[in-house]
Amino acid sequence: ITPDPRSRAWVEVDSKIIENNARVLKNFIGDDCSLMAVVKADGYGHGAETVAKSALTGGADSLGVATLEEGIQLRNAGLKCQILILGNLINSEELYSSFCWDLIPTISGIREAIICNNIAENKNKKFAIHLKIDTGMTRLGCNCNQFKELINKIDCLENIALEGIYSHLAIADRYLENNTQLSFTQIQLNRFEKVLKGLGKRNKFICRHLANSAGTLSDSRLHFDMVRVGLSLYGYFPVNDFKSDLKLSPALKVKARVTLVRDVGKGIGVGYGHFFKTQRASKLAVVAIGYADGVSRSLSGKISASIDGVLVPQVGAIAMDQMVFDITDKPDIKTGQVLTLLGTDGEVCISPQDWCDLSGSIPWEVLCSFRNRLPRVVT
Ligand code: PLP
Repeated sequence: ITPDPRSRAWVEVDSKIIENNARVLKNFIGDDCSLMAVVKADGYGHGAETVAKSALTGGADSLGVATLEEGIQLRNAGLKCQILILGNLINSEELYSSFCWDLIPTISGIREAIICNNIAENKNKKFAIHLKIDTGMTRLGCNCNQFKELINKIDCLENIALEGIYSHLAIADRYLENNTQLSFTQIQLNRFEKVLKGLGKRNKFICRHLANSAGTLSDSRLHFDMVRVGLSLYGYFPVNDFKSDLKLSPALKVKARVTLVRDVGKGIGVGYGHFFKTQRASKLAVVAIGYADGVSRSLSGKISASIDGVLVPQVGAIAMDQMVFDITDKPDIKTGQVLTLLGTDGEVCISPQDWCDLSGSIPWEVLCSFRNRLPRVVT
């Protein structure tokens, strides 16, 4: 007998919300710009296949993944749209696989471009690639000052189809916080535009893209032909106080059941290390979710969960598989009832950003921390 995925703890994903977020984003960017749904890291923890299908239904045009395996997973799920691998494939086996699976690799230099050309030449076909330019992230991509040299070399490779050219913004979220200052995003934009000028007439035929969620939402000059949206597709704004009329909604909830309710006296140590001691006679609820599921131990004693729209505080150290909540002020809670650790529950909304404010993390990290041990329940 397969256990009910809702028996212990689980991640609930509302696919209609993802679909609607994609629709909202697509309307926002307008008809001249296409929408790439970034579904790497298992769709930011939501389930890549679910997110990809919902985003495409909502109007996304293509998908972005980080690795070859992530791309193959989506092809095996029957997805036929363009898929760009945002990470670097370094050896010929990986590039050969990406060619066979019709996945577009990101190319940062001539070495990989030559490998791609050889692969396609042997098959008497063209290999579609996107070229990445480093305008200031200082990770992947050809240095923007060496771009001319690279493009001239790529031009000589007859089996390469240069379909896209892109760069990645390093501090676009900080740009949102201070619109007036000449931000580094502006410098990156200038560098990218300079590179595009060097493309001459081809500029028109190549898909140019620069913006992540922050760039997409902050400034239409960053949109070009396509935007690559991750975080906002899942319903979040890149900074807390972001002012926007866009109706994006979080699609994910983390829920767990109470596995035991117990009454304890005053002064009793709870959990490993006894970091928490009851200050009064207390009622405690044990919940079977822990850091092995992706709830960081650094949140111990800091978070609350919602039950029937009422917040109850978590107490003591978060352990590998369990944590404890103080339900003294809500004593009617019974074994088997469901707590919402993240997401909306009635009037209460607990966002990844709330956890980040307590732990120093970022919403991206919180979302992709949830491990496979937590079943994904798609509604
Ligand atoms: N583009 C690239 C190259 C990325 O690596 C990412 C995510 O890290 C994105 C776009 C999407 O970023 P965001 O989730 O901020 O929208």
